[in-house]
Amino acid sequence: TSAPLRTTPAVFPLPTLAAEHPAAVEVVGAHKSYAGREVLRGIDLAVRPGEVTVVIGPSGSGKSTLLRAVNHLEKLDRGHVSINGELLGVRRHRGRLKELPEREILAQRRRIGFVFQGFNLFPHLSVLDNVAAAPVASGQLGRPAARELARELLDRVGLGDKVDAYPRQLSGGQQQRVAIARALAQQPGVILFDEPTSALDPELVGEVLAVIQALATGGTTLVVVTHEIGFAREVADTVVFLDDGRIVEQGPPAQVLDRPQHQRTRDFLRAVL
Ligand code: ADP
Ligand code: MG
Repeated sequence: TSAPLRTTPAVFPLPTLAAEHPAAVEVVGAHKSYAGREVLRGIDLAVRPGEVTVVIGPSGSGKSTLLRAVNHLEKLDRGHVSINGELLGVRRHRGRLKELPEREILAQRRRIGFVFQGFNLFPHLSVLDNVAAAPVASGQLGRPAARELARELLDRVGLGDKVDAYPRQLSGGQQQRVAIARALAQQPGVILFDEPTSALDPELVGEVLAVIQALATGGTTLVVVTHEIGFAREVADTVVFLDDGRIVEQGPPAQVLDRPQHQRTRDFLRAVL
């Protein structure tokens, strides 16, 4: 998909990347089983600040489980996740790992944006309040400041004229752009997207990908699970191919998508392209 590129300045510019800066997202030795079945089988992944990582792979390969672990919606059986060098859900205490209280886990989660396949907007709230609600609820911003930020963000995703609409009055593509603005409103260090366009009619895919691409261009750190290979080729710094709970290969799109080293990657790409 070659979505038109809207170049918008970053609302939340990142600090200049220094070599000693930790990864924006780091996953080390991630293992997860459901009912004795291993779904993540030792995942190691690092996303540097400002980079875009696109995760591809067959249905059931563990992509959503991985994203949910990064957002601490799912607890790993083994391994850990850190965000900007800070461990997620645990703290080192006298040489051992101690679980964080729920309140601190919520504070950590606020620094990670999550955009789902199904938008998940509040149906009874206006578009503006959908976006403004989270920073108000978390105490990050007062109501007037949150509404002002929400207007700015809705403008940025091309919905400045829909602030008073309700989700049901919008197309799927518009709803997903509201969901993206809502994720941005928490001023997260990284945004995770789980198949953000797979619930959309084909003609609405491009407008959502264009917004994600503009975020990428603006320097926001992104992890995007998608089957949109054209988008991956154009926007990703790193493409990760996940199969059966393992990373089979990862690298720049020109390598993974155009010269895959593994037969399973070749078979997958042949099936989706
Ligand atoms: P993907 O997103 O790549 O399609 P998922 O991470 O959703 O894969 O799922 C990987 C595997 O884990 C699938 O076989 C799925 O059925 C299973 N799974 C995911 N979530 C749960 C759960 N909450 N309970 C039991 N099994 C699950
Ligand atoms: Mg999934």
